[in-house]
This record gives sequence, C-alpha cells and structure tokens, in this order.
Amino acid sequence: MPQLHINLRLIEENAYKVLEKCSKFNVEVVGVTKVSLGDPKIAQALKRAGIKIIGESRVQNILRMIENGVEGPFMMIRIPPKDDLVKIIRWCDYVLVSELKTVEWMEEIANDMNKTISAIYMIDVGDLREGVWYKDAAEEIIRALKISKKVKIIGVGTNLGCYGGVLPSTTNLGLLVEIRDLVEKRLSCQLPVVSGGNTSALKLLEEGRLPSGVNQYRVGEAIFLGTDVTNNRQIDWLNQEAIILEAPVIEVKMKPSFPEGETGQDAFGRKPIFIDKGMRKRAIIALGEQDITPSGLKPLDKGAQVIHSSSDHTIIDVTDAERKIEVGDTMRFKLSYGALLRAMTCPHVEKIYTQGV
Ligand SMILES: *Cc1c(COP(=O)(O)O)cnc(C)c1O
Repeated sequence: MPQLHINLRLIEENAYKVLEKCSKFNVEVVGVTKVSLGDPKIAQALKRAGIKIIGESRVQNILRMIENGVEGPFMMIRIPPKDDLVKIIRWCDYVLVSELKTVEWMEEIANDMNKTISAIYMIDVGDLREGVWYKDAAEEIIRALKISKKVKIIGVGTNLGCYGGVLPSTTNLGLLVEIRDLVEKRLSCQLPVVSGGNTSALKLLEEGRLPSGVNQYRVGEAIFLGTDVTNNRQIDWLNQEAIILEAPVIEVKMKPSFPEGETGQDAFGRKPIFIDKGMRKRAIIALGEQDITPSGLKPLDKGAQVIHSSSDHTIIDVTDAERKIEVGDTMRFKLSYGALLRAMTCPHVEKIYTQGV
C-alpha cells in the first residue's frame, strides 16, 4: 500500500517559522488544515507551533478535529452552503462570507441558537473566485453590517492566486485596506481584521511590500510543503520534505517509448503526447489518479521521470535513475499541493506519522 510519511516535527517547525515571519509584521496566522482532511495530529502540530486559529474548508473536518480533542478557535474558510450553517454556528468561531443572504440565514440561526459568530466579509480584488467585486464591496458590506447582530462582522478578507492565479500585490491588498477604511468611516464602526492572504502572500512580507493594515494570513501550502505554487517557488526558509509519499514498484521492464498500434484516447479521455526515445526502462508503481495527480509527483530518485498515470498505475521512466530500481523496491516522492490533497483524502494511502528527522 502506498504510504504518506508525515513528519509532524517538520510540520511544526514550518508552522513556527511562518508564524515567526508573520508576527514580525503583526500578521496573525490561521493554520489551514484543509489539504489534510482535517487531520487531528496535524492540527495539533500547528497548535504546538503556537498557531491559535485553525482554518478548514469542510465542516466535517472540523467535527473530526473536535471529536479528536483539537481545541479551536476554528475558522470556516470556504464561504458556507446554507445546509452547513447550523453546524458552522455551533462549532466555528469565525466564518468567511460573501453573500447578504447567507448573513441573513446565519442571523436567524444564531438567534434561534442564541449564539454569536464572527464573520469576515470576502472581497474579490481580481482573482475571480469568491468575494464581492471590489467596486461593489463597500456598499454590500455596509448593508451586511446593518442587518447583522448575532453575526459579528469583524473585518474583510480576500483570496488570491487560486483561480485567476493573480499575485498578491501592494495594489490589490491596498484596495482591501482602503475598502475597510471607507466602511469604518461611513458607519463609524470598527473592522479590526484584514485577512489578506494565503501562502502566495508570504512573498510580499519577505520583500517588505505588504501594505500596512493587512493583519491576518490564512496559510496551508507553505506549512505542509514549503512551496508557493502561485509564485512557482520553493520557500527557502522552510522545509520541503515534511511529507513524503512512498509507493511500491510492481513492474520494471524495458519497453519502447512509443506505443504500437493505432492510438485513440487514454483511460481519462486524454491524448498523451509520446516522444520516441527508443527503448526505455520503465517502472510501474502501485498508485494512480485515484491516489495522486501524476503531474504533482516529484521523484526523490535523481534521474527518474514520471510519465503518466491511469487510475491505479503510474509509469515512471527509470532509465537514467541513479539508483537501480527493481520490482519490490519502493520509490519516494515529494508532492505538489494537488497530489498531496488527493493522497491525504484517499483511503488507499496509509498515513504514517513520524516525529523524528
Ligand atoms: C485554501 C485556502 C487558504 C490557504 O491557502 P494556501 O495556499 O494553502 O496557503 C486560505 N484561504 C482560503 C479561502 C482558502 O480556500
């Protein structure tokens, strides 16, 4: 069975370094566990590092953490579906919102339950995922503030680098702060939280370009992988090997690199591109699209190259691998965010926790 080796100590160290970096600029860190299916051991590692708020995208994952003794506060970082609101108000302390209707529903439920919940209103400053378009944001947030009592709107937030791949900048995060200031002035109210970014915004901090006023980041990828996919970089002050995937080699054979016979589409309706490199030594490992995204596997064996996956098989060219790879061996890989997400959420990948180096 493929295994994910999760080094909790390295995760804790990465979390601590992110926290330390952000604290210097008075930026609070929300530790985002969504890539881990709300793994309680991972959440505890973040807590040990000193992170207070745990951010999650699925309410089931928050329940999983609570049932396993993880203490909040919890932040629901996906704008919530109506059906989840009762659970969210019961279990969460913070929620990201972007719809007046959702605020109204939450207001009713919170009233019935006699509970309060803090909300951060999401503003879209260009990436085109969630949030009210920045030009309309002040008006909508003012209306939301007027209808909310049990729902405490404590600030504004934005998400970048996820759909449009738009990079956080002094300009777009500056807009967020401007809108907050405008709303505060218009209503003489306080919106103390400006939740300005995720992993992709760490670069702004490092370069000293974060506009003042932004005071919260919600961070996942950097802590688990030490990478920043949006800026296409490894974060050199973090560790990239906190989580490693191991998979068994189930076949090693010399084969041509170009298929024989008339070709149609592969098992997923794709048309792979073949380059004829002659005879190659090819290993098959026992995992596939169900467990990972093949493009996100980075072999630790120097010279090995991932070619393609179907549901359960991944083909790797090991002709130029430094190590001699044989059937029965295991191969080890670093993972992209997408590959880690699939591996963590796949029941066929065993999770092994290590504390050591
Ligand atoms: C996933 C997510 C994050 C964390 O993003 P990373 O790139 O993993 O740091 C933050 N905020 C929201 C709204 C998210 O969906």
